[in-house]
Amino acid sequence: MEKLCLDESAVKAVDEYWEYRSIVGDDDGGRLFTPEQYEEYKRTVLPQRMKNRLFVSFGVPEGIDCNLIGPETQCFCTHRYKQHKTDFEVVPSERPLGLPCQVRGCRCSAYEYVPRNGPNPARCRCKHLSQDHSEATGHLCKKCNSCSGFQSTVTCGCGQPNSAHQTLVETKPEREARGRPVGRDVPYAAMGGLTGFSSLLDGYLNQEACGSDRDTSGAVSRGAQHQRLTTHTHSRRNTSIRK
Ligand SMILES: [Zn+2]
Ligand SMILES: [Zn+2]
Ligand SMILES: [Zn+2]
Ligand SMILES: [Zn+2]
Ligand SMILES: [Zn+2]
Repeated sequence: MEKLCLDESAVKAVDEYWEYRSIVGDDDGGRLFTPEQYEEYKRTVLPQRMKNRLFVSFGVPEGIDCNLIGPETQCFCTHRYKQHKTDFEVVPSERPLGLPCQVRGCRCSAYEYVPRNGPNPARCRCKHLSQDHSEATGHLCKKCNSCSGFQSTVTCGCGQPNSAHQTLVETKPEREARGRPVGRDVPYAAMGGLTGFSSLLDGYLNQEACGSDRDTSGAVSRGAQHQRLTTHTHSRRNTSIRK
């Protein structure tokens, strides 16, 4: 990986931009907010976001969380978690709670994680790839008539077939009731199942500043988190000391 070489003011600017992007996501429509708009955004959106934070994980019901979904984790529809609706003024009461994709023209009505088959897209029992199936509810195959809806043939690292898994969207009280970690409250958008600052850095910095050495699914596997934190802290220290 190439080392970034930045002076202190550049490091500060990167930090500020990173924080801005983590908080605002795509809500500025591609045009940076003015400082006043940014303050207004933080004043109105953050209290609601921190109160209504949704946690997203992938696992077998009653089992462990096999994957925690982060901002960059791809959905069945190929768009990322952060491109789905994740902020609610009032969290809807229906369960399962569907988080629809907000990309124009996409018919995905609920975020759904589909593990890849190593570096390859997952295949359905009908032999066609996940992207050959409709992103709309039911996920019917566009290439054959024998498919009754996408069913992954991949076996998860936990040993259970992926078809036994589900993408679970839950509120903080719901997650706490299951005895799962919720981390501290953070102002960042589309955190999904990530519960630590280090996991968020993993999602953004590796992707945008340091090139990509993460697994292509964009998901954070639990075992890799500690190691990545250590690596990251180390490289960041180097960055700030160097002139
Ligand atoms: Zn989509
Ligand atoms: Zn989607
Ligand atoms: Zn199929
Ligand atoms: Zn098919
Ligand atoms: Zn699993």
